[in-house]
Amino acid sequence: MSKFDPGSLTAKGVHLSFGSNHVLRGIDLHVPQGTTASVIGPSGSGKSTLLRVMNRLIEPDAGDILLDGKSVLQDSPDELRRRIGMVFQQFNLFPHKTVVENVAFALRRLRKLPKDQARAKALEQLDMVGLKHKADVRPGNLSGGQQQRVAIARALAMEPEVMFFDEATSALDPELVKGVLALMTDLSKGGMTMVVVTHEMGFSRNVSDTVTFMDGGVVVETGPPDQLFTEPRTDRLKGFLSDVL
Ligand code: ADP
Ligand code: MG
Repeated sequence: MSKFDPGSLTAKGVHLSFGSNHVLRGIDLHVPQGTTASVIGPSGSGKSTLLRVMNRLIEPDAGDILLDGKSVLQDSPDELRRRIGMVFQQFNLFPHKTVVENVAFALRRLRKLPKDQARAKALEQLDMVGLKHKADVRPGNLSGGQQQRVAIARALAMEPEVMFFDEATSALDPELVKGVLALMTDLSKGGMTMVVVTHEMGFSRNVSDTVTFMDGGVVVETGPPDQLFTEPRTDRLKGFLSDVL
């Protein structure tokens, strides 16, 4: 039984195995519209796999994924991926296309916009991330931080209902992390619904509405940042925080 819950994203009892490796062992996550959920946890705990199951790059073995409180498992996976924007650690830009072509590409292919309209919308989106002046250069001429902002602009151009970030700043030189986190913070404050897998404890603590700590394919603790960071209840979270803070 599910009720209408506009703009929300929910995972319910999600299980996923790779062969004999039971990677997700009954994950529940509820992200209300306009909120930011950060997901933290050690390497190998299943964070990336959870994002991939939630946008159906991988089908869950059991459990359900809901948008607006309605199961999406009967819809086409392409439909869901249009509703969820994804930003990866590696920016995955097309190296031979210009910055504006990178942003316009999916608008033309998936949204079927004519060339001039796609370019206009892409330029608008690049302006929002402060990179309109780089529209006609190739990604290789940009810093990692600028490339990641282009990747974010590309995802936003599709007008997603939810944005996923999977360690979006982990591949960046330290001095470039700030600009990308500032953009993610603006998006969060602007009311985007977001799931952010991150090692940036400052972002998790200060920006996200809820924090979910995963370890070994289960949600060990979840709650508001103040609770998890100042009063961790489990030894597993205490140990993790003492390693990363
Ligand atoms: P995290 O993002 O928290 O570091 P992952 O979700 O990437 O963790 O990985 C969780 C587990 O799933 C790991 O044991 C990893 O080796 C395994 N795994 C991830 N992707 C695949 C895949 N495509 N095929 C087989 N095993 C995978
Ligand atoms: Mg990962």
